[in-house]
Amino acid sequence: MAKTLFERIIDREIPGTFVHEDEQCVAIKDINPGAPLHVLVIPRKPIAKLSDASPGDQALLGHLMLVANKVAADAGFADYRVVVNNGAGAGQSVFHIHLHVVAGRPLKWPPG
Ligand code: AMP
Repeated sequence: MAKTLFERIIDREIPGTFVHEDEQCVAIKDINPGAPLHVLVIPRKPIAKLSDASPGDQALLGHLMLVANKVAADAGFADYRVVVNNGAGAGQSVFHIHLHVVAGRPLKWPPG
């Protein structure tokens, strides 16, 4: 299987700006930020999308949420949004599951 874009960033084959790294996941700055804070929390395990996750991924998915909170807190944001796009029709473009952590500007609801 070809590596995903995010696996290649994790493996330092292409550049990324890392703001967090642990044994289960990394967090990098989005290359095309939609807000002053726009970070992607990405598991090392290349699950393609949320709907491909299994019960065995439960702890990993919970860990990603806690890392999302840490990334926002470390950047000084108490208010932030966490988004997972599941499938092309929902805006997913990289098929390696990731959480968008967005903060630093007014965030309308519902999102576009
Ligand atoms: P999604 O559309 O939910 O799959 O999100 C993919 C995100 O990855 C987009 O917000 C892109 O801007 C971001 N992205 C694409 N390529 C890179 C890259 N090389 N480094 C960091 N972020 C990237």
